[in-house]
Amino acid sequence: MPANDKSSDPGRLDEVVAEARRNREQREQDYRERALKLYPWICGRCGREFNRQNLHELTVHHKNHNHDHNPLDGSNWELLCLYCHDNEHQRQLEAGPGTAGPGGGQKAQVTHNPFADLKQLLSSKDREG
Ligand SMILES: [Zn+2]
Ligand SMILES: [Zn+2]
Repeated sequence: MPANDKSSDPGRLDEVVAEARRNREQREQDYRERALKLYPWICGRCGREFNRQNLHELTVHHKNHNHDHNPLDGSNWELLCLYCHDNEHQRQLEAGPGTAGPGGGQKAQVTHNPFADLKQLLSSKDREG
């Protein structure tokens, strides 16, 4: 039984990555279209209904978090609004590492409180003086 040896050639890697990305974008379009045909335009979590005007806020979630797993019967898809989709992945992130989605959906969450530092600074000064 022959081993499936994928020798990685750094020169071709860029090409491969670019093509993979193109394929993925194409595939995302495909499964989104399909999922929207299969399922009613309703968020599976909060029940919010969608129409053509706000359809872009309805996203396709992969139940097993594997974006390459796209059975045509839609069994791995769930339509979620942006908010619920975000929540779903947040929970996954908290549950454990290793399932970071593909780039693009970067959201900087500002939890840093500038006054916390200031307070600490002031109080440490106070202590020294
Ligand atoms: Zn929702
Ligand atoms: Zn998802």
